[in-house]
Amino acid sequence: MTYGFDLDARLEQRDARNLRRHLEVAESVSARTRFADDPKGGPPAFGDEMVVFASNNYLGLADDGRVQRAAELGARTVGTGAGASRLVTGDTRVHRALERDLAACKGTERALVFSSGYAANIGTIDALAPDVVFSDELNHASIIDGCRVGASETVVYDHCDPEDLRDKMETRAAEADVDEQWLVVTDSVFSMDGDIAPLSPLADAADEYGAWLMVDEAHATGLFGDGGGGVVQHKGLSDRVDVQLGTLSKALASQGGYIAGDEALVEYLLNAARSFVFSTGLSPSSAATAREALRIARETDRATELWDTVATLRDGLETMGYEVLGETQILPVVVGDRGDALELAERLRDHGVVAPAIRPPTVPEGTSRIRVAPMATHSADDIAQCLDAFQSAGAAVGVL
Ligand code: PMP
Repeated sequence: MTYGFDLDARLEQRDARNLRRHLEVAESVSARTRFADDPKGGPPAFGDEMVVFASNNYLGLADDGRVQRAAELGARTVGTGAGASRLVTGDTRVHRALERDLAACKGTERALVFSSGYAANIGTIDALAPDVVFSDELNHASIIDGCRVGASETVVYDHCDPEDLRDKMETRAAEADVDEQWLVVTDSVFSMDGDIAPLSPLADAADEYGAWLMVDEAHATGLFGDGGGGVVQHKGLSDRVDVQLGTLSKALASQGGYIAGDEALVEYLLNAARSFVFSTGLSPSSAATAREALRIARETDRATELWDTVATLRDGLETMGYEVLGETQILPVVVGDRGDALELAERLRDHGVVAPAIRPPTVPEGTSRIRVAPMATHSADDIAQCLDAFQSAGAAVGVL
Protein backbone atom coordinates (compact mmCIF):
# COMPACT_ATOMS: atom_id res chain seq x y z
CA MET A 1 0.00 0.00 0.00
CA THR A 2 1.27 3.53 -0.74
CA TYR A 3 -0.42 6.82 0.05
CA GLY A 4 1.66 9.37 -1.87
CA PHE A 5 1.42 11.08 -5.21
CA ASP A 6 3.35 10.15 -8.33
CA LEU A 7 3.19 13.38 -10.29
CA ASP A 8 5.80 12.29 -12.85
CA ALA A 9 3.49 9.42 -13.83
CA ARG A 10 0.56 11.83 -14.12
CA LEU A 11 2.59 14.14 -16.33
CA GLU A 12 3.62 11.18 -18.49
CA GLN A 13 -0.03 10.27 -18.93
CA ARG A 14 -0.67 13.81 -20.12
CA ASP A 15 2.28 13.56 -22.50
CA ALA A 16 0.88 10.32 -23.90
CA ARG A 17 -2.47 12.01 -24.60
CA ASN A 18 -0.77 15.08 -26.05
CA LEU A 19 -2.31 17.20 -23.28
CA ARG A 20 0.88 18.50 -21.67
CA ARG A 21 1.15 22.29 -21.78
CA HIS A 22 4.28 24.40 -21.41
CA LEU A 23 4.74 27.97 -20.27
CA GLU A 24 6.27 30.54 -22.54
CA VAL A 25 7.48 33.95 -21.34
CA ALA A 26 6.29 37.07 -23.16
CA GLU A 27 8.40 40.21 -23.01
CA SER A 28 5.29 42.40 -22.94
CA VAL A 29 1.54 42.19 -23.61
CA SER A 30 1.72 44.38 -26.74
CA ALA A 31 0.40 43.40 -30.16
CA ARG A 32 4.02 42.70 -31.15
CA THR A 33 6.37 41.10 -28.69
CA ARG A 34 9.08 38.50 -28.20
CA PHE A 35 8.74 35.14 -26.48
CA ALA A 36 11.09 32.78 -24.66
CA ASP A 37 10.68 29.11 -23.82
CA ASP A 38 10.07 28.38 -20.14
CA PRO A 39 13.42 29.36 -18.58
CA LYS A 40 12.74 27.09 -15.55
CA GLY A 41 14.21 29.58 -13.07
CA GLY A 42 16.85 31.10 -15.36
CA PRO A 43 16.55 34.41 -17.23
CA PRO A 44 14.43 34.16 -20.40
CA ALA A 45 16.21 34.10 -23.79
CA PHE A 46 13.82 35.98 -26.07
CA GLY A 47 13.49 35.08 -29.75
CA ASP A 48 12.40 37.24 -32.69
CA GLU A 49 9.50 39.67 -32.48
CA MET A 50 6.12 38.09 -33.23
CA VAL A 51 2.72 39.57 -33.93
CA VAL A 52 0.22 38.25 -31.40
CA PHE A 53 -3.32 37.21 -32.35
CA ALA A 54 -3.85 35.21 -29.19
CA SER A 55 -4.61 37.73 -26.47
CA ASN A 56 -7.88 38.83 -24.87
CA ASN A 57 -6.44 42.32 -24.43
CA TYR A 58 -8.91 43.15 -27.20
CA LEU A 59 -8.73 46.93 -27.00
CA GLY A 60 -4.95 46.87 -26.66
CA LEU A 61 -5.22 48.95 -23.49
CA ALA A 62 -2.94 46.83 -21.28
CA ASP A 63 0.11 48.81 -22.42
CA ASP A 64 -1.68 52.12 -23.01
CA GLY A 65 0.05 55.05 -21.28
CA ARG A 66 -3.17 56.45 -19.78
CA VAL A 67 -4.07 53.11 -18.25
CA GLN A 68 -0.53 52.54 -17.02
CA ARG A 69 -0.58 55.95 -15.32
CA ALA A 70 -3.92 55.11 -13.68
CA ALA A 71 -2.39 51.88 -12.33
CA GLU A 72 0.54 53.84 -10.91
CA LEU A 73 -1.72 56.47 -9.38
CA GLY A 74 -3.94 53.81 -7.80
CA ALA A 75 -0.90 52.15 -6.29
CA ARG A 76 0.62 55.44 -5.11
CA THR A 77 -2.47 57.04 -3.60
CA VAL A 78 -4.30 54.00 -2.23
CA GLY A 79 -1.72 51.19 -2.15
CA THR A 80 -0.50 48.27 -4.19
CA GLY A 81 -2.54 45.60 -2.41
CA ALA A 82 -5.88 45.81 -0.59
CA GLY A 83 -4.31 44.19 2.46
CA ALA A 84 -7.46 42.39 3.61
CA SER A 85 -10.85 41.15 2.52
CA ARG A 86 -13.15 43.94 1.40
CA LEU A 87 -15.28 43.11 4.46
CA VAL A 88 -12.38 43.80 6.83
CA THR A 89 -10.27 46.81 5.75
CA GLY A 90 -9.75 46.10 2.05
CA ASP A 91 -12.67 48.17 0.75
CA THR A 92 -11.27 51.41 -0.68
CA ARG A 93 -12.61 54.43 -2.53
CA VAL A 94 -11.13 53.20 -5.80
CA HIS A 95 -13.13 49.94 -5.52
CA ARG A 96 -16.29 51.94 -4.95
CA ALA A 97 -15.59 54.30 -7.83
CA LEU A 98 -15.02 51.35 -10.18
CA GLU A 99 -18.22 49.67 -8.99
CA ARG A 100 -20.22 52.86 -9.58
CA ASP A 101 -18.79 53.11 -13.10
CA LEU A 102 -19.48 49.45 -13.85
CA ALA A 103 -23.07 49.72 -12.62
CA ALA A 104 -23.60 52.83 -14.75
CA CYS A 105 -22.10 51.10 -17.79
CA LYS A 106 -24.16 47.94 -17.28
CA GLY A 107 -27.39 49.74 -16.45
CA THR A 108 -27.80 48.12 -13.03
CA GLU A 109 -28.30 49.43 -9.50
CA ARG A 110 -24.97 48.15 -8.26
CA ALA A 111 -21.85 46.18 -9.10
CA LEU A 112 -19.37 44.21 -6.99
CA VAL A 113 -15.80 43.40 -7.94
CA PHE A 114 -14.07 40.11 -7.16
CA SER A 115 -10.40 39.18 -7.44
CA SER A 116 -11.03 37.39 -10.76
CA GLY A 117 -13.84 36.49 -13.14
CA TYR A 118 -13.27 32.88 -12.15
CA ALA A 119 -13.81 33.76 -8.48
CA ALA A 120 -16.91 35.78 -9.39
CA ASN A 121 -18.50 32.83 -11.20
CA ILE A 122 -17.68 30.27 -8.52
CA GLY A 123 -18.69 32.53 -5.63
CA THR A 124 -21.91 33.73 -7.24
CA ILE A 125 -23.32 30.37 -8.35
CA ASP A 126 -22.32 28.76 -5.06
CA ALA A 127 -23.89 31.57 -3.00
CA LEU A 128 -27.13 31.60 -4.99
CA ALA A 129 -27.29 27.84 -4.35
CA PRO A 130 -29.98 27.12 -6.94
CA ASP A 131 -31.76 23.77 -6.82
CA VAL A 132 -31.05 23.43 -10.53
CA VAL A 133 -28.63 25.23 -12.83
CA PHE A 134 -29.48 25.07 -16.53
CA SER A 135 -26.15 25.61 -18.26
CA ASP A 136 -25.21 25.98 -21.95
CA GLU A 137 -23.01 23.07 -23.03
CA LEU A 138 -20.22 25.43 -24.13
CA ASN A 139 -20.14 27.62 -21.03
CA HIS A 140 -16.76 28.62 -19.66
CA ALA A 141 -14.93 26.36 -17.18
CA SER A 142 -15.47 28.83 -14.34
CA ILE A 143 -19.25 28.47 -14.75
CA ILE A 144 -18.92 24.69 -14.88
CA ASP A 145 -16.79 24.77 -11.73
CA GLY A 146 -19.31 27.10 -10.07
CA CYS A 147 -21.96 24.47 -10.75
CA ARG A 148 -19.70 21.77 -9.27
CA VAL A 149 -18.86 23.61 -6.06
CA GLY A 150 -22.34 23.78 -4.63
CA ALA A 151 -25.02 21.16 -4.08
CA SER A 152 -27.01 22.28 -7.12
CA GLU A 153 -28.06 19.84 -9.79
CA THR A 154 -26.77 20.84 -13.23
CA VAL A 155 -28.78 20.31 -16.40
CA VAL A 156 -26.78 21.01 -19.55
CA TYR A 157 -28.76 22.28 -22.55
CA ASP A 158 -27.64 22.28 -26.19
CA HIS A 159 -25.46 25.16 -27.23
CA CYS A 160 -27.44 28.38 -27.83
CA ASP A 161 -30.68 26.38 -28.05
CA PRO A 162 -33.59 27.99 -26.14
CA GLU A 163 -35.94 25.23 -27.37
CA ASP A 164 -33.77 22.52 -25.82
CA LEU A 165 -33.61 24.62 -22.64
CA ARG A 166 -37.39 24.84 -22.61
CA ASP A 167 -37.75 21.06 -23.12
CA LYS A 168 -35.36 20.39 -20.26
CA MET A 169 -37.16 22.83 -17.99
CA GLU A 170 -40.46 21.21 -18.84
CA THR A 171 -39.09 17.74 -18.04
CA ARG A 172 -37.69 18.95 -14.75
CA ALA A 173 -40.93 20.77 -13.86
CA ALA A 174 -42.87 17.55 -14.44
CA GLU A 175 -40.53 15.70 -12.04
CA ALA A 176 -40.34 18.31 -9.26
CA ASP A 177 -43.01 18.13 -6.58
CA VAL A 178 -41.84 21.08 -4.48
CA ASP A 179 -41.02 24.69 -5.37
CA GLU A 180 -37.48 25.07 -6.65
CA GLN A 181 -35.10 27.91 -7.45
CA TRP A 182 -33.69 27.70 -10.96
CA LEU A 183 -30.77 29.53 -12.53
CA VAL A 184 -30.19 29.65 -16.29
CA VAL A 185 -26.59 30.56 -17.04
CA THR A 186 -24.86 31.36 -20.31
CA ASP A 187 -21.84 33.15 -21.71
CA SER A 188 -22.91 36.06 -23.92
CA VAL A 189 -19.93 35.70 -26.29
CA PHE A 190 -18.51 32.18 -26.46
CA SER A 191 -14.74 32.18 -26.44
CA MET A 192 -14.08 29.15 -28.64
CA ASP A 193 -16.85 29.63 -31.24
CA GLY A 194 -17.02 33.43 -31.26
CA ASP A 195 -20.82 33.32 -31.38
CA ILE A 196 -23.43 35.17 -29.31
CA ALA A 197 -26.07 33.57 -27.10
CA PRO A 198 -29.71 34.19 -28.12
CA LEU A 199 -30.35 36.19 -24.96
CA SER A 200 -33.90 37.33 -25.69
CA PRO A 201 -35.32 33.82 -26.26
CA LEU A 202 -33.32 32.55 -23.28
CA ALA A 203 -34.84 35.31 -21.13
CA ASP A 204 -38.32 34.35 -22.42
CA ALA A 205 -37.73 30.70 -21.48
CA ALA A 206 -36.41 31.67 -18.04
CA ASP A 207 -39.41 33.99 -17.50
CA GLU A 208 -41.89 31.22 -18.28
CA TYR A 209 -40.68 29.29 -15.28
CA GLY A 210 -39.76 32.22 -13.05
CA ALA A 211 -36.11 31.15 -13.31
CA TRP A 212 -33.25 33.63 -12.95
CA LEU A 213 -30.96 34.37 -15.88
CA MET A 214 -27.24 34.91 -15.37
CA VAL A 215 -25.04 36.07 -18.26
CA ASP A 216 -21.25 35.99 -18.36
CA GLU A 217 -20.05 38.98 -20.39
CA ALA A 218 -16.32 38.23 -20.07
CA HIS A 219 -15.70 38.54 -23.82
CA ALA A 220 -18.26 41.32 -24.39
CA THR A 221 -17.51 43.91 -21.70
CA GLY A 222 -15.95 47.02 -23.19
CA LEU A 223 -16.75 45.89 -26.74
CA PHE A 224 -20.49 45.56 -27.28
CA GLY A 225 -23.24 48.04 -26.51
CA ASP A 226 -23.14 51.74 -25.97
CA GLY A 227 -19.94 52.46 -24.10
CA GLY A 228 -19.01 48.79 -23.86
CA GLY A 229 -21.86 47.72 -21.58
CA GLY A 230 -21.91 44.25 -23.15
CA VAL A 231 -24.41 42.25 -25.18
CA VAL A 232 -27.09 42.45 -22.46
CA GLN A 233 -27.04 46.24 -22.58
CA HIS A 234 -26.66 46.23 -26.39
CA LYS A 235 -29.87 44.20 -26.71
CA GLY A 236 -31.72 46.30 -24.13
CA LEU A 237 -32.05 43.36 -21.75
CA SER A 238 -30.58 44.85 -18.58
CA ASP A 239 -33.96 44.58 -16.84
CA ARG A 240 -34.44 40.94 -17.84
CA VAL A 241 -31.06 39.57 -16.79
CA ASP A 242 -30.86 39.02 -13.05
CA VAL A 243 -27.11 38.55 -12.78
CA GLN A 244 -24.58 40.05 -15.17
CA LEU A 245 -21.03 38.96 -14.71
CA GLY A 246 -17.75 39.72 -16.39
CA THR A 247 -14.04 40.06 -16.10
CA LEU A 248 -11.75 43.06 -15.86
CA SER A 249 -8.94 41.05 -17.41
CA LYS A 250 -9.79 41.16 -21.11
CA ALA A 251 -10.86 44.40 -22.85
CA LEU A 252 -10.50 46.24 -19.52
CA ALA A 253 -6.79 45.46 -19.42
CA SER A 254 -6.63 44.64 -15.73
CA GLN A 255 -7.29 41.74 -13.40
CA GLY A 256 -10.47 40.90 -11.50
CA GLY A 257 -14.10 40.10 -12.11
CA TYR A 258 -17.43 41.76 -11.43
CA ILE A 259 -21.07 41.05 -11.03
CA ALA A 260 -23.74 43.66 -11.75
CA GLY A 261 -27.36 43.56 -10.71
CA ASP A 262 -29.77 44.99 -8.21
CA GLU A 263 -29.06 46.19 -4.70
CA ALA A 264 -30.25 42.97 -3.03
CA LEU A 265 -28.05 40.80 -5.26
CA VAL A 266 -24.91 42.78 -4.43
CA GLU A 267 -25.74 43.02 -0.73
CA TYR A 268 -26.38 39.27 -0.61
CA LEU A 269 -23.23 38.31 -2.51
CA LEU A 270 -20.92 40.48 -0.46
CA ASN A 271 -22.17 38.52 2.54
CA ALA A 272 -22.50 35.06 1.05
CA ALA A 273 -20.06 34.59 -1.84
CA ARG A 274 -17.15 32.77 -0.23
CA SER A 275 -14.68 33.83 -2.94
CA PHE A 276 -15.52 37.44 -2.03
CA VAL A 277 -15.72 37.08 1.74
CA PHE A 278 -12.60 34.96 2.25
CA SER A 279 -10.31 36.45 -0.38
CA THR A 280 -8.28 39.66 -0.26
CA GLY A 281 -9.93 42.55 -2.08
CA LEU A 282 -8.93 43.27 -5.65
CA SER A 283 -5.72 45.33 -5.64
CA PRO A 284 -6.38 49.10 -5.72
CA SER A 285 -4.10 49.42 -8.71
CA SER A 286 -6.10 46.77 -10.63
CA ALA A 287 -9.30 48.63 -9.75
CA ALA A 288 -7.82 51.94 -10.94
CA THR A 289 -6.56 50.27 -14.14
CA ALA A 290 -9.97 48.82 -14.99
CA ARG A 291 -11.66 52.11 -14.22
CA GLU A 292 -9.48 54.05 -16.65
CA ALA A 293 -9.82 51.34 -19.34
CA LEU A 294 -13.59 51.45 -18.89
CA ARG A 295 -13.54 55.23 -19.24
CA ILE A 296 -11.60 54.95 -22.49
CA ALA A 297 -13.93 52.21 -23.76
CA ARG A 298 -16.96 54.37 -22.95
CA GLU A 299 -15.69 57.73 -24.13
CA THR A 300 -13.68 56.91 -27.25
CA ASP A 301 -14.36 54.86 -30.35
CA ARG A 302 -11.55 52.45 -29.64
CA ALA A 303 -13.76 49.40 -30.29
CA THR A 304 -14.40 50.70 -33.83
CA GLU A 305 -10.72 50.13 -34.64
CA LEU A 306 -11.06 46.56 -33.42
CA TRP A 307 -14.21 45.94 -35.49
CA ASP A 308 -12.45 47.27 -38.62
CA THR A 309 -9.57 44.85 -38.05
CA VAL A 310 -11.99 41.99 -37.43
CA ALA A 311 -13.81 42.71 -40.71
CA THR A 312 -10.56 42.87 -42.72
CA LEU A 313 -9.29 39.60 -41.26
CA ARG A 314 -12.59 37.73 -41.64
CA ASP A 315 -12.94 38.90 -45.22
CA GLY A 316 -9.32 38.04 -46.09
CA LEU A 317 -9.47 34.58 -44.52
CA GLU A 318 -12.80 33.72 -46.14
CA THR A 319 -11.59 34.93 -49.54
CA MET A 320 -8.66 32.49 -49.22
CA GLY A 321 -11.19 29.71 -48.67
CA TYR A 322 -11.05 29.30 -44.88
CA GLU A 323 -14.22 28.67 -42.88
CA VAL A 324 -14.40 31.29 -40.15
CA LEU A 325 -17.00 30.77 -37.41
CA GLY A 326 -18.80 33.26 -35.22
CA GLU A 327 -19.89 36.87 -35.43
CA THR A 328 -17.64 38.59 -32.92
CA GLN A 329 -14.04 39.71 -32.39
CA ILE A 330 -13.05 36.07 -31.89
CA LEU A 331 -12.30 34.47 -35.27
CA PRO A 332 -12.21 30.65 -35.06
CA VAL A 333 -10.63 29.43 -38.32
CA VAL A 334 -11.77 25.83 -38.73
CA VAL A 335 -9.16 23.36 -39.96
CA GLY A 336 -10.84 20.08 -38.95
CA ASP A 337 -8.08 17.61 -38.21
CA ARG A 338 -6.18 18.18 -34.96
CA GLY A 339 -2.79 17.36 -36.52
CA ASP A 340 -3.39 19.87 -39.31
CA ALA A 341 -4.39 22.54 -36.78
CA LEU A 342 -1.21 21.96 -34.77
CA GLU A 343 0.94 22.07 -37.89
CA LEU A 344 -0.77 25.20 -39.14
CA ALA A 345 -0.19 26.97 -35.81
CA GLU A 346 3.47 25.92 -35.93
CA ARG A 347 3.89 27.24 -39.48
CA LEU A 348 2.11 30.50 -38.62
CA ARG A 349 4.76 30.95 -35.94
CA ASP A 350 7.47 30.42 -38.54
CA HIS A 351 5.89 33.42 -40.29
CA GLY A 352 6.01 35.43 -37.07
CA VAL A 353 2.29 35.06 -36.19
CA VAL A 354 1.09 33.68 -32.86
CA ALA A 355 -2.41 32.17 -32.95
CA PRO A 356 -3.12 28.98 -31.01
CA ALA A 357 -4.52 25.68 -32.27
CA ILE A 358 -7.63 24.70 -30.30
CA ARG A 359 -8.20 20.94 -30.33
CA PRO A 360 -10.38 18.29 -28.69
CA PRO A 361 -11.30 17.99 -25.87
CA THR A 362 -11.71 21.79 -25.84
CA VAL A 363 -13.70 21.59 -29.11
CA PRO A 364 -15.50 18.61 -30.72
CA GLU A 365 -13.50 16.07 -32.76
CA GLY A 366 -13.13 17.16 -36.40
CA THR A 367 -13.50 20.88 -35.62
CA SER A 368 -9.95 21.72 -34.57
CA ARG A 369 -9.28 25.33 -35.31
CA ILE A 370 -6.94 28.28 -35.04
CA ARG A 371 -8.34 30.95 -32.74
CA VAL A 372 -7.49 34.37 -34.11
CA ALA A 373 -8.07 37.19 -31.63
CA PRO A 374 -7.18 40.63 -33.00
CA MET A 375 -6.50 43.72 -30.91
CA ALA A 376 -7.47 47.33 -31.64
CA THR A 377 -3.75 48.13 -31.73
CA HIS A 378 -2.86 45.82 -34.63
CA SER A 379 -1.49 47.90 -37.50
CA ALA A 380 -2.25 47.43 -41.20
CA ASP A 381 1.16 45.71 -41.48
CA ASP A 382 0.29 43.31 -38.64
CA ILE A 383 -2.97 42.38 -40.36
CA ALA A 384 -1.24 41.89 -43.71
CA GLN A 385 1.40 39.70 -42.06
CA CYS A 386 -1.32 37.56 -40.48
CA LEU A 387 -3.16 37.09 -43.78
CA ASP A 388 0.05 36.33 -45.71
CA ALA A 389 1.00 33.79 -43.06
CA PHE A 390 -2.40 32.04 -43.31
CA GLN A 391 -2.05 31.93 -47.10
CA SER A 392 1.39 30.35 -47.24
CA ALA A 393 1.10 28.20 -44.10
CA GLY A 394 -2.35 26.95 -45.15
CA ALA A 395 -1.06 26.00 -48.60
CA ALA A 396 1.95 24.21 -47.08
CA VAL A 397 -0.25 22.19 -44.68
CA GLY A 398 -2.72 21.45 -47.49
CA VAL A 399 -5.80 22.91 -45.82
CA LEU A 400 -6.48 25.50 -48.53
N1 PMP B 1 -15.79 33.71 -18.00
C1 PMP B 1 -15.36 33.55 -19.26
C2 PMP B 1 -16.37 33.38 -20.35
C3 PMP B 1 -13.99 33.57 -19.54
O1 PMP B 1 -13.56 33.41 -20.79
C4 PMP B 1 -13.07 33.76 -18.49
C5 PMP B 1 -11.57 33.84 -18.70
N2 PMP B 1 -11.01 33.14 -19.68
C6 PMP B 1 -13.56 33.89 -17.19
C7 PMP B 1 -14.92 33.88 -16.98
C8 PMP B 1 -12.64 34.03 -16.02
O2 PMP B 1 -12.20 35.34 -15.90
P1 PMP B 1 -10.79 35.68 -15.23
O3 PMP B 1 -9.75 35.43 -16.25
O4 PMP B 1 -10.92 37.09 -14.81
O5 PMP B 1 -10.65 34.76 -14.05
